[in-house]
Amino acid sequence: MSVRELVVLGTASQVPTRHRNHNGYLLRWDGEGFLFDPGEGTQRQMLRAGAAAHDIDRICVTHFHGDHSLGLAGVIQRINLDKVPHPVSAHYPRSGQRFFDRLRYATAYRETVALVEAPVDTDGPLVRTSGYTLEARRLSHPVEAYGYRIVEPDGRRMLPDRLAAHGIEGPDVGRLQREGSLNGVALEDVSEVRRGQRFAFVMDTRLCDGVYALAEGCDMLVIESTFLDEDESLAVEFGHLTAGQAARVAREAGVRHLVLTHFSQRYADPDAFEREARAAGFEADLTVARDLQRVPLPKRRA
Ligand SMILES: [Zn+2]
Repeated sequence: MSVRELVVLGTASQVPTRHRNHNGYLLRWDGEGFLFDPGEGTQRQMLRAGAAAHDIDRICVTHFHGDHSLGLAGVIQRINLDKVPHPVSAHYPRSGQRFFDRLRYATAYRETVALVEAPVDTDGPLVRTSGYTLEARRLSHPVEAYGYRIVEPDGRRMLPDRLAAHGIEGPDVGRLQREGSLNGVALEDVSEVRRGQRFAFVMDTRLCDGVYALAEGCDMLVIESTFLDEDESLAVEFGHLTAGQAARVAREAGVRHLVLTHFSQRYADPDAFEREARAAGFEADLTVARDLQRVPLPKRRA
């Protein structure tokens, strides 16, 4: 069975708190695992969340600030210690190659796993598989940052009543799907478009074109909301978003499930982020992320 869910490993910006680990997220997407922005302590948070090094197929780092990358050293060593049997790819801004090199080789260990370095230096697709395209878009932060987006190709959903009306059954259904038509019946006559799912991960940025492009039409958007609107001037100065800004982006982009995270330790009440997002007019599903929470992707659109 295919599982698509976000496992929240940490939700703190800049420094961990008593209740929040440094940033970190594992996206389970069918059989694959995407580890996003492993901050310090990610290895232990994975243990607590029931996730193993074997679950990681790709690592996607938005930028090289510590709350998004200090966990690389531990996670990479753990992948090797556990002799993960598949290759693991790592995506990160190419301008931060020296940071990646240091984190990858922070201390001595035995390398047993093929870790494929696939740095990002431009907008566009990074990987295409039969199940998804992984894309990157440049963000706006004091150090170079990229957001990521996973887009499943559209498919077709067969409509049983239409198939029956045309007397198509059994192996003929597969033939029609493969060949596009059968005895004068077109695939379009007996099926409808099944929209592929979309997921985006947007960390550490001011509002910019990349934020909107990444969020467009997403089933799930995981986005930083370091600040509340009352501190918008700080957000702009340090290259971050407020909860209100993130929610307005999500509303305009038609996001179905908004996950706010990466909170500044200056705010004691997480409910304030929800109130602000709702006040900004976002009405669909909303999660103010907590550490170790699991958030399933919404069911496919009917
Ligand atoms: Zn950060």
